[in-house]
Amino acid sequence: MRISRRTSGGRGEYEISEEAPGGITPHDLVDHRLVLDLGDGLLLDSGCVLLHAQGKFRIRIVRPDANMQLHRQLVAVLLLPEAIRSNVTMGGGMPIVQKGRYAIETVEIKAVDREAGRATLAVGEVVLSNADHPAEELHFDRRVAGVVRLWQKRQKLPSEMQAIIERHEALVRGGGPLHSEAERLVSELQSVLADQAADFGIAYNEYTDALPPLLELLDIQIAEPAVRVEDIDPEEVELRRRTIREWKRWAAHRGTETARFRVRVRDAYRSTCLVCGKQYPPTPFNRVPGVDAAHILPWADYDLDRTDNGICLCKLCHWAFDEGILVVSARAGHYHVEVSQAARAAIAQAGTPFSLDVFDGLAGQVPGERLPARPEDWPNVQFLEELRQNQEV
Ligand SMILES: [Zn+2]
Repeated sequence: MRISRRTSGGRGEYEISEEAPGGITPHDLVDHRLVLDLGDGLLLDSGCVLLHAQGKFRIRIVRPDANMQLHRQLVAVLLLPEAIRSNVTMGGGMPIVQKGRYAIETVEIKAVDREAGRATLAVGEVVLSNADHPAEELHFDRRVAGVVRLWQKRQKLPSEMQAIIERHEALVRGGGPLHSEAERLVSELQSVLADQAADFGIAYNEYTDALPPLLELLDIQIAEPAVRVEDIDPEEVELRRRTIREWKRWAAHRGTETARFRVRVRDAYRSTCLVCGKQYPPTPFNRVPGVDAAHILPWADYDLDRTDNGICLCKLCHWAFDEGILVVSARAGHYHVEVSQAARAAIAQAGTPFSLDVFDGLAGQVPGERLPARPEDWPNVQFLEELRQNQEV
Protein backbone atom coordinates (compact mmCIF):
# COMPACT_ATOMS: atom_id res chain seq x y z
CA MET A 1 0.00 0.00 0.00
CA ARG A 2 1.18 3.52 -0.69
CA ILE A 3 0.23 7.12 -0.28
CA SER A 4 1.04 8.80 -3.56
CA ARG A 5 0.84 12.16 -5.22
CA ARG A 6 -1.43 12.56 -8.20
CA THR A 7 -0.66 15.64 -10.27
CA SER A 8 -3.27 15.69 -13.01
CA GLY A 9 -5.01 19.06 -13.13
CA GLY A 10 -2.73 21.53 -11.36
CA ARG A 11 -2.22 21.03 -7.66
CA GLY A 12 -1.18 17.59 -6.57
CA GLU A 13 -3.38 15.55 -4.31
CA TYR A 14 -2.57 12.58 -2.14
CA GLU A 15 -4.33 9.29 -2.55
CA ILE A 16 -4.01 5.84 -1.10
CA SER A 17 -3.71 2.90 -3.46
CA GLU A 18 -2.81 -0.80 -3.58
CA GLU A 19 -3.31 -3.53 -1.06
CA ALA A 20 -1.41 -3.68 2.19
CA PRO A 21 0.18 -6.89 3.51
CA GLY A 22 -2.62 -8.85 5.13
CA GLY A 23 -5.02 -8.04 2.32
CA ILE A 24 -6.25 -4.67 3.62
CA THR A 25 -7.36 -2.47 0.73
CA PRO A 26 -7.84 1.31 0.56
CA HIS A 27 -11.56 0.61 0.58
CA ASP A 28 -11.22 -0.86 4.07
CA LEU A 29 -9.77 2.45 5.30
CA VAL A 30 -12.50 4.79 4.02
CA ASP A 31 -13.64 7.26 6.69
CA HIS A 32 -10.82 6.13 8.95
CA ARG A 33 -8.65 8.68 10.65
CA LEU A 34 -5.07 8.27 9.44
CA VAL A 35 -2.30 7.81 12.00
CA LEU A 36 1.30 7.45 10.84
CA ASP A 37 3.55 5.04 12.69
CA LEU A 38 7.02 6.55 12.22
CA GLY A 39 8.95 3.94 14.16
CA ASP A 40 10.94 4.61 17.34
CA GLY A 41 7.62 4.69 19.20
CA LEU A 42 6.47 7.82 17.37
CA LEU A 43 2.83 7.99 16.32
CA LEU A 44 1.43 10.94 14.43
CA ASP A 45 -2.33 11.36 14.32
CA SER A 46 -2.63 13.41 11.14
CA GLY A 47 -6.18 14.58 11.78
CA CYS A 48 -6.84 13.57 8.16
CA VAL A 49 -9.24 10.91 6.92
CA LEU A 50 -9.53 8.82 3.79
CA LEU A 51 -12.55 9.64 1.65
CA HIS A 52 -13.85 7.80 -1.36
CA ALA A 53 -15.00 10.18 -4.07
CA GLN A 54 -15.12 9.99 -7.85
CA GLY A 55 -13.46 6.61 -7.79
CA LYS A 56 -10.44 7.88 -5.87
CA PHE A 57 -9.31 7.34 -2.30
CA ARG A 58 -8.31 10.85 -1.31
CA ILE A 59 -6.83 12.12 1.92
CA ARG A 60 -8.74 15.02 3.43
CA ILE A 61 -8.20 17.25 6.45
CA VAL A 62 -10.81 17.10 9.23
CA ARG A 63 -11.23 20.63 10.45
CA PRO A 64 -10.93 22.21 12.94
CA ASP A 65 -8.70 19.50 14.37
CA ALA A 66 -6.04 19.79 11.68
CA ASN A 67 -4.96 22.61 9.39
CA MET A 68 -2.12 20.97 7.51
CA GLN A 69 -2.19 18.20 4.97
CA LEU A 70 -0.69 14.90 6.00
CA HIS A 71 2.35 15.25 3.73
CA ARG A 72 3.19 18.68 5.19
CA GLN A 73 3.02 17.26 8.69
CA LEU A 74 5.36 14.47 7.69
CA VAL A 75 7.80 16.98 6.17
CA ALA A 76 7.78 19.01 9.40
CA VAL A 77 8.35 15.94 11.58
CA LEU A 78 11.38 15.01 9.48
CA LEU A 79 12.81 18.55 9.64
CA LEU A 80 12.74 18.78 5.86
CA PRO A 81 12.45 22.14 4.09
CA GLU A 82 9.01 22.95 2.74
CA ALA A 83 7.87 20.67 -0.05
CA ILE A 84 5.42 21.48 -2.83
CA ARG A 85 2.57 19.52 -4.29
CA SER A 86 2.54 20.65 -7.89
CA ASN A 87 4.90 19.81 -10.72
CA VAL A 88 4.84 23.31 -12.11
CA THR A 89 7.66 25.02 -10.25
CA MET A 90 9.91 22.05 -9.87
CA GLY A 91 13.15 21.82 -11.64
CA GLY A 92 16.87 22.38 -11.46
CA GLY A 93 18.87 22.21 -8.37
CA MET A 94 21.11 19.71 -6.68
CA PRO A 95 20.58 18.26 -4.17
CA ILE A 96 16.89 17.48 -4.38
CA VAL A 97 15.98 18.57 -0.86
CA GLN A 98 15.61 22.30 -1.34
CA LYS A 99 12.83 24.52 -0.14
CA GLY A 100 9.98 24.60 -2.64
CA ARG A 101 11.84 22.47 -5.17
CA TYR A 102 10.68 18.94 -4.47
CA ALA A 103 7.59 16.93 -3.63
CA ILE A 104 6.83 13.93 -1.48
CA GLU A 105 6.10 11.49 -4.29
CA THR A 106 5.11 8.37 -2.37
CA VAL A 107 4.95 7.16 1.20
CA GLU A 108 5.21 3.40 1.24
CA ILE A 109 3.11 1.72 3.89
CA LYS A 110 4.51 -1.57 5.17
CA ALA A 111 1.73 -2.46 7.58
CA VAL A 112 -1.77 -1.31 8.52
CA ASP A 113 -3.57 -1.65 11.83
CA ARG A 114 -7.24 -0.75 12.08
CA GLU A 115 -9.02 -0.04 15.31
CA ALA A 116 -12.08 2.02 16.23
CA GLY A 117 -12.15 4.22 13.15
CA ARG A 118 -8.42 4.80 13.16
CA ALA A 119 -5.99 3.32 10.66
CA THR A 120 -2.39 3.21 11.81
CA LEU A 121 -0.07 3.14 8.82
CA ALA A 122 3.52 2.00 9.40
CA VAL A 123 5.77 4.04 7.11
CA GLY A 124 8.32 2.01 5.17
CA GLU A 125 10.03 4.45 2.85
CA VAL A 126 9.43 7.96 1.60
CA VAL A 127 10.25 8.79 -2.00
CA LEU A 128 10.95 12.36 -3.13
CA SER A 129 10.82 13.74 -6.64
CA ASN A 130 11.40 16.76 -8.81
CA ALA A 131 12.11 17.36 -12.46
CA ASP A 132 15.73 16.20 -12.12
CA HIS A 133 15.08 13.34 -9.73
CA PRO A 134 12.00 11.31 -10.59
CA ALA A 135 12.34 9.06 -7.53
CA GLU A 136 14.82 9.54 -4.75
CA GLU A 137 14.57 7.54 -1.55
CA LEU A 138 14.76 9.51 1.66
CA HIS A 139 16.02 6.52 3.70
CA PHE A 140 13.18 7.00 6.11
CA ASP A 141 14.38 4.94 9.08
CA ARG A 142 17.76 6.64 9.08
CA ARG A 143 16.07 10.02 8.81
CA VAL A 144 13.84 9.38 11.84
CA ALA A 145 16.86 8.11 13.79
CA GLY A 146 18.69 11.34 12.88
CA VAL A 147 15.83 13.52 14.12
CA VAL A 148 15.64 11.55 17.39
CA ARG A 149 19.39 11.86 17.84
CA LEU A 150 19.17 15.61 17.32
CA TRP A 151 16.47 15.83 20.00
CA GLN A 152 18.57 13.81 22.41
CA LYS A 153 21.87 15.61 21.87
CA ARG A 154 20.54 19.12 21.39
CA GLN A 155 22.34 20.44 24.49
CA LYS A 156 25.51 20.34 22.40
CA LEU A 157 24.11 23.04 20.14
CA PRO A 158 23.82 26.80 20.72
CA SER A 159 20.93 27.78 22.99
CA GLU A 160 18.95 29.40 20.20
CA MET A 161 18.87 26.11 18.30
CA GLN A 162 18.25 24.08 21.45
CA ALA A 163 15.04 25.96 22.13
CA ILE A 164 13.71 25.37 18.62
CA ILE A 165 14.61 21.67 18.68
CA GLU A 166 13.08 21.22 22.13
CA ARG A 167 9.80 22.70 20.96
CA HIS A 168 9.88 20.55 17.83
CA GLU A 169 10.31 17.40 19.90
CA ALA A 170 7.45 18.42 22.20
CA LEU A 171 5.12 18.99 19.25
CA VAL A 172 5.99 15.70 17.54
CA ARG A 173 5.87 13.67 20.75
CA GLY A 174 2.51 15.34 21.41
CA GLY A 175 1.22 12.91 18.78
CA GLY A 176 -0.35 15.39 16.35
CA PRO A 177 -2.02 16.71 14.39
CA LEU A 178 0.81 19.13 13.71
CA HIS A 179 -0.14 22.67 12.82
CA SER A 180 1.80 25.32 10.95
CA GLU A 181 3.89 26.12 14.04
CA ALA A 182 5.87 22.95 13.31
CA GLU A 183 6.68 24.22 9.83
CA ARG A 184 7.70 27.58 11.21
CA LEU A 185 10.09 25.91 13.66
CA VAL A 186 11.81 24.09 10.80
CA SER A 187 12.34 27.25 8.78
CA GLU A 188 13.54 29.10 11.90
CA LEU A 189 16.07 26.37 12.54
CA GLN A 190 17.23 26.64 8.93
CA SER A 191 17.69 30.37 9.16
CA VAL A 192 19.53 30.29 12.53
CA LEU A 193 21.86 27.62 11.18
CA ALA A 194 22.43 29.55 7.95
CA ASP A 195 23.34 32.64 9.91
CA GLN A 196 26.05 30.89 11.90
CA ALA A 197 27.26 27.90 9.88
CA ALA A 198 30.20 29.71 8.32
CA ASP A 199 31.77 30.16 11.77
CA PHE A 200 32.20 26.39 11.88
CA GLY A 201 33.48 25.98 8.37
CA ILE A 202 30.16 24.41 7.38
CA ALA A 203 28.57 25.31 4.09
CA TYR A 204 24.83 25.74 4.52
CA ASN A 205 22.12 27.95 3.10
CA GLU A 206 18.69 28.23 4.58
CA TYR A 207 16.90 26.69 1.60
CA THR A 208 18.49 23.29 2.03
CA ASP A 209 18.20 20.37 4.40
CA ALA A 210 19.35 21.38 7.90
CA LEU A 211 19.53 17.93 9.45
CA PRO A 212 22.84 16.65 7.95
CA PRO A 213 24.86 19.75 8.95
CA LEU A 214 23.26 19.77 12.43
CA LEU A 215 24.24 16.14 12.95
CA GLU A 216 27.70 17.05 11.68
CA LEU A 217 27.89 19.75 14.35
CA LEU A 218 27.05 17.20 17.04
CA ASP A 219 29.92 15.08 15.76
CA ILE A 220 32.49 17.81 15.93
CA GLN A 221 32.60 17.52 19.70
CA ILE A 222 32.41 13.76 19.72
CA ALA A 223 35.23 13.55 17.19
CA GLU A 224 37.67 15.49 19.35
CA PRO A 225 39.33 12.63 21.26
CA ALA A 226 39.17 10.49 18.15
CA VAL A 227 41.68 12.64 16.25
CA ARG A 228 44.74 10.53 15.64
CA VAL A 229 47.36 12.97 14.56
CA GLU A 230 49.50 10.47 12.69
CA ASP A 231 46.54 9.49 10.51
CA ILE A 232 45.80 12.86 9.01
CA ASP A 233 47.80 15.56 7.36
CA PRO A 234 48.94 18.57 9.42
CA GLU A 235 46.70 21.02 7.63
CA GLU A 236 43.65 18.99 8.52
CA VAL A 237 44.76 18.76 12.16
CA GLU A 238 44.98 22.52 12.31
CA LEU A 239 41.60 22.88 10.65
CA ARG A 240 40.02 20.47 13.09
CA ARG A 241 41.64 22.09 16.07
CA ARG A 242 40.35 25.42 14.96
CA THR A 243 36.87 24.05 14.40
CA ILE A 244 36.83 22.53 17.86
CA ARG A 245 38.08 25.73 19.42
CA GLU A 246 35.40 27.73 17.64
CA TRP A 247 32.89 25.14 18.63
CA LYS A 248 33.68 25.52 22.32
CA ARG A 249 33.29 29.26 22.05
CA TRP A 250 29.94 28.79 20.43
CA ALA A 251 28.92 26.34 23.12
CA ALA A 252 29.60 29.13 25.60
CA HIS A 253 26.75 31.06 23.97
CA ARG A 254 28.84 33.02 21.55
CA GLY A 255 26.52 32.21 18.66
CA THR A 256 23.81 34.71 19.46
CA GLU A 257 26.29 37.50 20.08
CA THR A 258 27.92 36.95 16.69
CA ALA A 259 24.53 36.95 14.99
CA ARG A 260 23.78 40.31 16.59
CA PHE A 261 27.17 41.61 15.48
CA ARG A 262 26.35 40.77 11.87
CA VAL A 263 23.05 42.57 11.94
CA ARG A 264 24.54 45.60 13.75
CA VAL A 265 27.36 46.00 11.24
CA ARG A 266 25.17 45.51 8.17
CA ASP A 267 22.63 47.99 9.49
CA ALA A 268 25.28 50.56 10.42
CA TYR A 269 26.57 50.48 6.83
CA ARG A 270 23.10 50.23 5.22
CA SER A 271 24.31 46.98 3.61
CA THR A 272 26.90 48.97 1.65
CA CYS A 273 30.38 47.59 0.92
CA LEU A 274 32.94 49.99 2.38
CA VAL A 275 35.48 49.19 -0.34
CA CYS A 276 33.46 49.26 -3.56
CA GLY A 277 30.33 51.11 -2.43
CA LYS A 278 27.94 48.49 -3.83
CA GLN A 279 24.72 47.97 -1.87
CA TYR A 280 23.26 44.46 -1.51
CA PRO A 281 20.59 44.44 1.23
CA PRO A 282 18.14 41.59 1.71
CA THR A 283 14.92 42.04 -0.29
CA PRO A 284 11.71 40.03 -0.48
CA PHE A 285 13.42 38.12 -3.33
CA ASN A 286 16.82 37.46 -1.73
CA ARG A 287 16.57 36.97 1.96
CA VAL A 288 20.33 36.53 2.24
CA PRO A 289 22.13 39.86 1.82
CA GLY A 290 25.12 40.12 -0.53
CA VAL A 291 27.25 41.85 2.07
CA ASP A 292 29.00 40.38 5.11
CA ALA A 293 30.00 41.80 8.45
CA ALA A 294 33.72 41.15 8.20
CA HIS A 295 35.77 41.09 11.39
CA ILE A 296 38.86 43.30 11.29
CA LEU A 297 40.66 41.28 13.97
CA PRO A 298 39.59 37.67 13.36
CA TRP A 299 36.84 36.43 15.61
CA ALA A 300 38.50 33.06 16.20
CA ASP A 301 41.59 34.70 17.71
CA TYR A 302 40.27 37.91 19.25
CA ASP A 303 36.61 37.26 19.94
CA LEU A 304 35.75 40.92 19.41
CA ASP A 305 32.13 41.33 18.34
CA ARG A 306 32.17 45.12 18.66
CA THR A 307 30.72 47.09 15.79
CA ASP A 308 34.02 48.97 15.37
CA ASN A 309 35.78 45.62 14.86
CA GLY A 310 33.51 45.12 11.86
CA ILE A 311 33.47 46.34 8.29
CA CYS A 312 30.60 45.76 5.92
CA LEU A 313 32.01 44.19 2.74
CA CYS A 314 30.50 42.56 -0.33
CA LYS A 315 31.43 38.92 -0.91
CA LEU A 316 34.28 39.69 -3.31
CA CYS A 317 35.81 42.49 -1.22
CA HIS A 318 35.40 40.36 1.94
CA TRP A 319 37.44 37.59 0.36
CA ALA A 320 40.14 40.01 -0.82
CA PHE A 321 40.24 41.66 2.62
CA ASP A 322 40.48 38.36 4.52
CA GLU A 323 43.22 37.19 2.15
CA GLY A 324 45.17 40.39 2.74
CA ILE A 325 44.98 41.41 -0.92
CA LEU A 326 43.04 44.55 -0.02
CA VAL A 327 44.33 46.63 2.87
CA VAL A 328 42.17 49.18 4.68
CA SER A 329 44.02 51.83 6.66
CA ALA A 330 43.26 55.15 8.29
CA ARG A 331 45.27 58.33 8.12
CA ALA A 332 44.54 62.02 8.51
CA GLY A 333 40.95 61.29 9.49
CA HIS A 334 40.19 59.33 6.32
CA TYR A 335 40.04 55.68 5.41
CA HIS A 336 42.05 54.39 2.49
CA VAL A 337 41.94 51.21 0.46
CA GLU A 338 45.01 49.85 -1.29
CA VAL A 339 46.23 46.66 -2.88
CA SER A 340 48.85 45.01 -0.69
CA GLN A 341 52.33 45.40 -2.16
CA ALA A 342 53.28 41.98 -0.78
CA ALA A 343 50.29 40.40 -2.53
CA ARG A 344 51.09 42.19 -5.78
CA ALA A 345 54.70 41.00 -5.69
CA ALA A 346 53.84 37.40 -4.80
CA ILE A 347 51.16 37.13 -7.49
CA ALA A 348 53.46 38.65 -10.11
CA GLN A 349 56.21 36.24 -9.14
CA ALA A 350 53.90 33.25 -9.40
CA GLY A 351 52.95 34.36 -12.89
CA THR A 352 49.36 33.17 -12.33
CA PRO A 353 46.69 35.06 -14.30
CA PHE A 354 44.91 37.11 -11.61
CA SER A 355 42.47 40.01 -11.95
CA LEU A 356 44.23 42.43 -9.64
CA ASP A 357 43.04 45.28 -11.88
CA VAL A 358 39.58 45.01 -10.29
CA PHE A 359 41.09 45.80 -6.90
CA ASP A 360 43.40 48.47 -8.30
CA GLY A 361 40.24 50.17 -9.49
CA LEU A 362 38.93 50.26 -5.91
CA ALA A 363 42.06 51.75 -4.38
CA GLY A 364 41.93 55.25 -2.95
CA GLN A 365 40.21 57.28 -0.28
CA VAL A 366 36.88 55.93 0.95
CA PRO A 367 34.03 58.44 0.46
CA GLY A 368 32.69 59.52 3.87
CA GLU A 369 29.08 58.68 3.01
CA ARG A 370 29.89 54.95 2.98
CA LEU A 371 30.77 55.03 6.68
CA PRO A 372 28.25 54.45 9.48
CA ALA A 373 26.34 57.48 10.72
CA ARG A 374 27.89 57.25 14.20
CA PRO A 375 31.70 57.74 14.27
CA GLU A 376 32.01 55.26 17.18
CA ASP A 377 30.89 52.55 14.73
CA TRP A 378 33.63 53.38 12.21
CA PRO A 379 36.42 50.82 11.75
CA ASN A 380 38.69 51.05 14.79
CA VAL A 381 42.02 52.57 13.75
CA GLN A 382 44.02 50.54 16.29
CA PHE A 383 42.39 47.30 15.15
CA LEU A 384 43.26 48.08 11.52
CA GLU A 385 46.84 48.79 12.54
CA GLU A 386 47.11 45.56 14.54
CA LEU A 387 45.75 43.60 11.59
CA ARG A 388 48.33 45.21 9.31
CA GLN A 389 51.12 44.23 11.70
CA ASN A 390 49.80 40.65 11.97
CA GLN A 391 49.73 40.36 8.19
CA GLU A 392 53.34 41.48 7.91
CA VAL A 393 54.55 38.71 10.16
ZN1 LIG B 1 32.79 45.34 -2.41
